[in-house]
Order: sequence, then structure tokens, then C-alpha cells
Amino acid sequence: MLDPEIELMRTDKLRKLQEERFIRQVRYAYENVPMYKKRFREKGISPDDIKSLDDAHKIPFTVKNDLRDHYPYGILAVPLRDVVEMHASSGTTGTPTVVTYTERDLRTWSRLMGRTYSAAGANSEDVIQNAYGYGLFTGGLGFHYGIREIGAMAVPTATGNTKRQLKMMKDMGTTVLACTPSYALYLGEAAKSEGYDPHEDFNLRIGMFGAEPWSEEARKKIQDTFGLRAHDVYGMSELYGPGVAVECEHQNGLHIWSDEFLVEVINPETGEVLPEGEKGELVFTMLTREAMPLLRYRTKDLATISWEECECGRYHPRIMRIRGRADDMLIVGGVNVFPSQIEHVLMNIDELAGEFFQIVIEGEILDRLYVKVEVDPKHYESDKYDEAKLKKKVEDELQAVLTLRARVELLPPGTLPRTEGKAKHVLDLRKKV
Ligand SMILES: [Zn+2]
Repeated sequence: MLDPEIELMRTDKLRKLQEERFIRQVRYAYENVPMYKKRFREKGISPDDIKSLDDAHKIPFTVKNDLRDHYPYGILAVPLRDVVEMHASSGTTGTPTVVTYTERDLRTWSRLMGRTYSAAGANSEDVIQNAYGYGLFTGGLGFHYGIREIGAMAVPTATGNTKRQLKMMKDMGTTVLACTPSYALYLGEAAKSEGYDPHEDFNLRIGMFGAEPWSEEARKKIQDTFGLRAHDVYGMSELYGPGVAVECEHQNGLHIWSDEFLVEVINPETGEVLPEGEKGELVFTMLTREAMPLLRYRTKDLATISWEECECGRYHPRIMRIRGRADDMLIVGGVNVFPSQIEHVLMNIDELAGEFFQIVIEGEILDRLYVKVEVDPKHYESDKYDEAKLKKKVEDELQAVLTLRARVELLPPGTLPRTEGKAKHVLDLRKKV
């Protein structure tokens, strides 16, 4: 454990620490970020009204568009000369969102990432292959800083060049793999087709997988392929990057590092704070960030939170796995469909390579839902493969879960594009009004 005093802090002490930091941080944001001063005034409140954590609900939310509207430096609370690093979202859907860090922010982030590795069981003996993108994306450097923090060895392969990834993994004796879960699935497949025996040739024991939601089925597949323990890592660039929360060795929910993050769960429609254990949208306040303090940041991630003590001895509350993003939900012919439901069905059919799928929605008047999925390579080659029969089976099982009929297309193994970053599972071709 990297910071036992903080990591094992009991709930009452942790809440007290959060409260002190929260009250201070609210005032800091108000005094140094004009956007917050303006919003507080519009709501008729001042930092004096925030006396405890129970007053948090009085503070207006911050959303991703606020970052875009204040591009590039509008939410900066310090002079630019105190900023030592920035990152940015890809900006594929418009203006990128920029995040900035002071030296102290980078120290905090490194420490959080160090704790994140250590909670998953990594230590200074490990050889950690970091296959997240180094660059403006927070994943690469975030996972890198954590490696430095625990004194392990970094193999900074970054994304891409899969053959070289596999060669490094074998030759360097990589013990910890950090990448997106979809890339881990692809690496497993590529390893086998390159003639590696992942259990024999690789020395992997831990996986650090984040930056996209993934299912229990995907976890099982990655664990079985490589013989490692796969940990879910949660974060987002607006909140430093990765390292907000991680699964400990018990893999039963993701501990939120609550000395640095205050979490609330809200009803995404009304904005009202929900009691513990109810499912809603996660909202985070960063408790010590200097360069870009964010108050009540809406993540659009839907989950429940548990404050129960974990078997590992930590009291930091746990996200009981992300159940999908509010904006991932598709409405097809009036029915709510989550891509994760479709993935769940596909991955439980043995004849399929269910992790390789694509959802296509078309339609001008009536929506049509297509699901393209690859057949398992062994099944595809076997005499038992009956395309029409399997297609019907998949359509029936999807209908049972989705309550609507999807048209299924079975694809030969290796047809769909493989990704080095986040998988693109949904193609919505409907004309937006
Ligand atoms: Zn735990």
C-alpha cells in the first residue's frame, strides 16, 4: 500500500478531511475562477453558505460544455506561468476540452496513479508495459507517472504496432499490461495468430484497463487468455485523467480516492442528490486541484456507490462498476437500448467472437437495428457451422433481452477493424433532425 495512512482512513475521518478540503476548495474556486463567481452570484449564494458537505447541493453543476465554452484557458485559477502541463480531448466533436496542471497537481495525479497501481497489486519489481496513447490524451502520461511513482520499470510502447507490442511483452518480461480493454482483447487474438502461447510466452500477472466501459465477459476473456488479473481503472481527463478510482485485488467495485474526490450520485433528469445505493449519474468535486478546480462536475456515467468497508481494509467508497453512460443509450424505435446489453448477449454465445461486434442503426421513418458480429474462428472452420441456424439463435437471444428484433449479420473472423484505442461499437446512420 502506497499511502496506508490515507488509504486505510476510516469513514468518519475521511468525511471530515473531505469536508475541510471541500469548504476551502469552494472558496478557492469562487475567488479565482470568474465563471464560478458569476454562477454563485446568479444563484444568490457565496462561499459563506457552504459550511459542510450537506451544503454541496447548493452549488451549481459544472458540465463538459463549460470547458468548451471557456476554451482554452477560461477555467484557469492560477497565472499561466504556474501551469506546467496541459492535456486535451481529441475534439472530434468540436472544440477540444483543455485541462491544465500546476506542479502540485502533477504531484497529486502521480501519487493517485501510484496508489492505483499499488491497489491492483503492482510494485517496484514490476515491468509495466504502457500501451495507452502518449500525447494530448491523459492516458499515456497518467499511467506513466504512476509507474515512476511506485518505482517499477516502464515499457512505454504507447498505442499501435501490435507485433512490436507482443515482442516487447515477451522479451522484456512484461508483468503488468496497461491499455484499453478492447486493445487487450485484440492483443490476445493477435498473440495467438502470431503463434504465441500467451500463458507460456508471457509473464503477465496484472492488467490495468480503463478509458472505456467493459463487461464481466470481456474481463473473463482477457483473464483467461493471458492468465492475469484484470483491474478496472476509472477516470476522465477533466478529473486529472486516469486514477480517480480502481479495483483492488478483490475486484468488487472501484475505490474512489476520496481524499481528493468528493462523489455525489444524482438523478440525471432532476439533478437531485440520491441516497447511498441508488443508481444515478456520478458527480465529482476535485478537492485540492490548483490549476483547474472543478466543482460538482457531471460525468454522465451511471452507477451506484457503496460506502461499506471493503475486504481489503479500505473505506474509500466504491463505484459498483459503471453501468453505461447516459449518452451511450440509444433509442431505437422508441425502445431504450444500451450497447452493453448487446455485448452481454453476444459474449455469452460460444459460437461467436462476441467482443468483435458493431451496432448499426438506420432509418428515416422506421428505425432498423443491425448487429454485425464475428464468428468464433474455431467454430467458423468446423463442420458444425450453420450460418442460418446461428443467425436465428443470435437474433432470438437479442430479442429476449432488447424486446425488439435486430437483424444479425455474421462475419468471418477478423473482418471488423481492430482498434488500438477505444472501440467504436455504434454507428448511428439516422439523419439527425
Ligand atoms: Zn478494496
